[in-house]
Order: sequence, then C-alpha cells, then structure tokens
Amino acid sequence: MIPFTLQKVSTQSAALQAAASGGRYIAGGTTLIDLMREEVEQPQKLVDINALPLGHIRIEGEELVIGALARMSEVAAHAQVRALQPLIAESLVEGASPQLRNMASVGGNLLQRVRCPYFRMLDAACNKRTPNSGCAALGGLNAGHAIFGTSSHCIATHPSDLAVALVALDATLRVQGPAGLRALPVEALYRLPGRTPHLEHSLAPGELIVEVRVPNAAHARAARYLKVRDRSSYEFAVVSAAAALQVEGGVIRAARVACGGVGTIPWRLRAVENQLVGKPFARASFEQAANIAATGASPSAHNGYKVELLGRTVVRALEMAGERT
Ligand SMILES: Cc1cc2nc3c(=O)[nH]c(=O)nc-3n(C[C@H](O)[C@H](O)[C@H](O)COP(=O)(O)OP(=O)(O)OC[C@H]3O[C@@H](n4cnc5c(N)ncnc54)[C@H](O)[C@@H]3O)c2cc1C
Ligand code: SF4
Repeated sequence: MIPFTLQKVSTQSAALQAAASGGRYIAGGTTLIDLMREEVEQPQKLVDINALPLGHIRIEGEELVIGALARMSEVAAHAQVRALQPLIAESLVEGASPQLRNMASVGGNLLQRVRCPYFRMLDAACNKRTPNSGCAALGGLNAGHAIFGTSSHCIATHPSDLAVALVALDATLRVQGPAGLRALPVEALYRLPGRTPHLEHSLAPGELIVEVRVPNAAHARAARYLKVRDRSSYEFAVVSAAAALQVEGGVIRAARVACGGVGTIPWRLRAVENQLVGKPFARASFEQAANIAATGASPSAHNGYKVELLGRTVVRALEMAGERT
C-alpha cells in the first residue's frame, strides 16, 4: 500500500476544509481500503468522517431521511424503513455480507467503484482506472457487463443495489460543498461513461453526501427488490429489478421500475412504467410491459442472455411487489 496520512474530523466544515486540501473521505472503508491495498486507488490523504453526526434514520414529514453515515445493516433492520420503504431494506440486505453491512455506510455504498475484474488488474487496459489506456472488457470476458448505457470506452455495470432502489423511488441527496448545501436527485448523481468513464459521478471535488431523502409514496409500500445472482449471498447482481406499484380498484395507478446489473448506471425503465399505468393489475399486464424492458439494449459478445433475463426478472419483481398491494 502507498503511504498516506489520516485526518479525523468532527464537523462538516472541517471535513470540507480537509478535502479541499486534497483529502479523500473515508467512511466504512470497505471499498476504498480494498482498492488502496491493490494500489488501484492511491490517495495521499484520507479524511475519516465517522465522527460527523450523520448516522440518523428518521421520518420527516412525508420523507424518509437517512444520514450518509448510517450503516447498511442499521437501515435494513429499521422498523420504519421496512414498513414504509421495503425496497430500500431489501436492496441493502441483499448486498455484500453481514460483516460488510455492519461497516459500510450509505454514502460509501452510493460511491463504491465498479466490479469489472479488469479495473482491478493493474496490467490490463482500463479507461476507468487509467484514462485513454483502452478497455480490456470489450474484447475480453464480458458475461457480467452492461447492456445499457455502454460506450466504446467502458461497458462496466454499476454495482450498488441501493442506488437502483433509490432511483426507482425518486430519492434525492443532500450534498454539502464549500458553497453550501444542495439537493441532487440520485438519478443525476451518476454519469454515463461516454468518452470519460473515469468521471463516474456529478459531485464536485470535496463535496460531501450528507443524507438521502426518499418520498414515502403509496407505491413505495408495495414494492420488491429482486436480485438474480450466481450464488445466493455475498454476490453482486447479474440482473436485479426494483419494482413498486400502486393499485386501486384492480387498476395500476402508479408504477416504478429500475434495474441493476444491466446498466453502466442504475437503469430506470420509464417506458415500462408508462406501459403499466392504467392497465389491469394482472400478470398479462406485467408481461406486456416487460416485453419492452430491453428496448435499446446493446449486448456484448458474452452477455446477450441478460436481455431475456431482464424481462423475466421484471415480471417476477412486479408480481412480488403486487403481493404487497
Ligand atoms: C466482497 C464484497 C461484496 C459486496 N457486495 C455488494 C453487493 O452485492 N451490493 C452492493 O451494493 N454492494 C456490495 N459491496 C460493496 C459495499 O456495499 C461497499 O463496499 C460499501 O457500501 C461502501 O461503503 P463504505 O462506507 O465502506 O465506503 P468507503 O470505502 O469508506 O468509501 C467508498 C467511496 O465513497 C466515498 N465516500 C464515502 N462516504 C462519503 C460521503 N458521505 N460523501 C462523499 N463521499 C463519500 C469515499 O471517498 C470512497 O470514494 C460489496 C463489497 C465487498 C467487499
Ligand atoms: S469495462 Fe470499464 S472498468 Fe472494465 S476494463 Fe473496460 S474501461 Fe475498465
């Protein structure tokens, strides 16, 4: 590991100041330390933000508010989260392992790096790790890679399950920077790779995620996160779907669908949602809508199976969400 300094801070202003002089925030460290050990990331200064009072989980008006330092396991087990926002609880408890979930924070989860194996191989070409070096996945093993939002510079999938749920639920971040606090929709946090895959998010250097705010909408209560993976725990998604429904009088009044494991960013399926609204609450409606889930997909040599799997996962997630209406 390359030598680095560590500064502990207890106020947001101290955190911003430390980051302004080149520091990188560290929360649970479950991603960052891993990458530093492998020398994929080489920060010279870490800013430990764990003493900041950002561990809250509470209801404020019509919103669920989760502090950036709340741990994955705490949020997943929280009674109000489970009752009002089951999608969030399920997306968290299906990620990583119990030990990791006890350490890992919500803010860190949203900013974790990709799991493309070539990203971690220092001798492989990777535009995300080393800009303009090429992309080994394009002509290499790409069964796990993205079918949406890809470019000729990067096809890595976005890894966070929580981010998929938050995108489906129209969640917004509160972000603190030198100029003050701003609101940022989670959907706007992530950047498509385009020609610059090393630029993954829209935070300015040193900006701190303070909290996540999620509307407690009626559809959020009838929701499911379904994660298809190669083994039943401790594994990233091959394909996942976050589905939420509001049904009145046997008719779908509102629908939210986003998916993971298929996009270079969490992928919202708005066309599927539009197709569902106004339709009878029935499997036939889910199947019809899921038929267009993969519209616009561009598979690589080894991941064409995701097109079929995506449609099936969306139908099943909608059925499971429907069981909660
Ligand atoms: C074996 C393994 C399996 C995993 N499986 C899954 C899985 O299935 N699904 C899934 O979603 N995740 C999975 N993960 C990822 C895990 O969820 C993340 O490592 C974890 O959530 C990161 O949180 P952290 O607090 O440890 O982040 P850190 O490692 O501390 O930080 C990660 C990044 O976020 C930045 N950061 C942290 N907090 C803030 C903040 N408040 N504001 C601004 N920047 C900040 C840091 O600077 C760093 O760049 C897995 C990880 C491992 C090691
Ligand atoms: S897919 Fe992206 S992360 Fe993977 S090797 Fe290519 S550029 Fe790197």
